Amino acid sequence: MSEFDAIVVGGGPAGTSAAMRLAASKLNVLLVEKADPPGSKNVSGGVLWGNSLAGVMPDWEKTAPLERYVKSKGIGFLTKDSSIDISFRSTRFNETKTGYTVLRTKLDQFLNKKAKDAGATVVTGVTVDRLAFEGKKVIGVEQDGDVITSDAVILAEGANPRVAIDSGIRSPLKDEDVAIGVKEVIKLPEKTINDRFNLREKEGFAGEYVLGFLDGGVEAGGFLYTNKDSISLGVVISMKHLRENNKTYSYDIVEQFKNHPSIAPLLEDGKVDEYSAHMVQEGGLASIPKLYGNGYMIAGDAAGFSFSNGLILQGMNYAIASGIAAADTIVEAKTGSGISEQSFSKYEEKLMNSFVLKDMHTFKGIGDITWGNLIHQQMPGILEKVMLGLFMEDGEPKRHMNQIVKEALKSSGLKSSKLLLEGYRMYRRM
Ligand SMILES: Cc1cc2nc3c(=O)[nH]c(=O)nc-3n(C[C@H](O)[C@H](O)[C@H](O)COP(=O)(O)OP(=O)(O)OC[C@H]3O[C@@H](n4cnc5c(N)ncnc54)[C@H](O)[C@@H]3O)c2cc1C
Repeated sequence: MSEFDAIVVGGGPAGTSAAMRLAASKLNVLLVEKADPPGSKNVSGGVLWGNSLAGVMPDWEKTAPLERYVKSKGIGFLTKDSSIDISFRSTRFNETKTGYTVLRTKLDQFLNKKAKDAGATVVTGVTVDRLAFEGKKVIGVEQDGDVITSDAVILAEGANPRVAIDSGIRSPLKDEDVAIGVKEVIKLPEKTINDRFNLREKEGFAGEYVLGFLDGGVEAGGFLYTNKDSISLGVVISMKHLRENNKTYSYDIVEQFKNHPSIAPLLEDGKVDEYSAHMVQEGGLASIPKLYGNGYMIAGDAAGFSFSNGLILQGMNYAIASGIAAADTIVEAKTGSGISEQSFSKYEEKLMNSFVLKDMHTFKGIGDITWGNLIHQQMPGILEKVMLGLFMEDGEPKRHMNQIVKEALKSSGLKSSKLLLEGYRMYRRM
């Protein structure tokens, strides 16, 4: 007989949600997290989108350590001198809170405590090495030469899935599967944040930026989110581009973003409180491995579940939903036909019926658009020229909009037929 009904590897949003759900079903569950305290190795820009946590914690909006709710969403195209922004604010977000900014150190400690309170055995500061097999069946996990046995294992180890790779159930990551995220938390008084971002108490701003001005033409996206009394700011850089521009360092890119003339005033007098770097899953559907086998399932970032279309980056909601689906699959198998590869195939069915795999299929191939020349290199410059053409009064005769646009396109070297074609592709994929 196994020591545990289930072992969950990783105490991020996926693993803790799975552990809470399993413990709530009275299963004997062990959650193993390598960081101590939990969350100290985790990085998120930090907007927790959607309502997935309600699946394990109906009162999460009252009890979880949430910073601010997203009242205002921004998208910006930055060139060296300019910033072309679209800002959306809505009182509808007061009624339905669609996203909350969070700090992972606080959130992960809270989620791990909730898993413990629900009845899970939570062990921190321990790194699982690999899965333990008997033939093709997973019988537990190996740690430092010891085997801890369990009927089922959920791998929720995040974007660098070493356990899955070293156990031979997932192929090594390719450059195009991941990006590098680098983030700072910058302390500022609450009132200063409210004044600078035009926010009231508890209201927050979440902005995503195309950084079209970086040295060496590196492709990267920036993000800036307001917490209660700090700002989370960072960049997500294409791994492929970073390798190709081997003289570029990720921290230089954060500095360039912070020093941009439209960002720097927002951060003035702020003190850097945290600095971190982490992999971001970017591979989409093409990078998703086989999600289950006899005795195991893979959830969250470890399974490649994250969504990014350049306007928004989401992963925590996919992690939570997939962790819950994996836990439910174990509970059903234990009370039904027993644990087998066949009974665990229900996990994939559940994900196919939820936003998790539906989104992955709907947005298949979106990475070609979000990591493309048009968005990162050409679009910011074109938009800047059009805006200057429209709004810069230089005493010269005014021109029609079509002339301004034509000139902007010409100077970017982009043919209007190509722009139409690429624009249509982008429109369809997004
Ligand atoms: C810079 C950046 C910005 C982001 N912004 C957002 C955002 O705004 N909104 C959003 O929804 N998502 C965002 N994401 C994505 C989000 O962080 C992930 O999708 C999410 O954290 C995935 O949750 P997870 O539980 O699958 O993995 P993780 O949160 O990575 O948790 C995995 C856990 O497993 C532990 N672990 C790993 N290996 C082992 C092992 N061998 N043994 C024991 N424990 C192990 C780790 O320490 C970690 O605690 C961002 C990511 C980055 C890097």
